[in-house]
Amino acid sequence: MDSILRRCRNCGRYTMRKDKCPYCGGELEVPHPPKYSPEDRYGRQRLLMKVMSGRIKLSRDIMDALISGHSSKQ
Ligand SMILES: [Zn+2]
Repeated sequence: MDSILRRCRNCGRYTMRKDKCPYCGGELEVPHPPKYSPEDRYGRQRLLMKVMSGRIKLSRDIMDALISGHSSKQ
């Protein structure tokens, strides 16, 4: 299981999709090495910190998945 998040190279938004950006149709890339996993609490914590500090923007469903820890489902 690798990272659930992809980032659009074109608009920089994050998505759970793997084929293309749902916002602009741009190419996706893995935003950073897939160290994040549901068991990696520390990694999740850091990701949440970034989200909450406004450094990265996630859609609500992704936020919920991260917070609940069941991110591997979608
Ligand atoms: Zn995009």
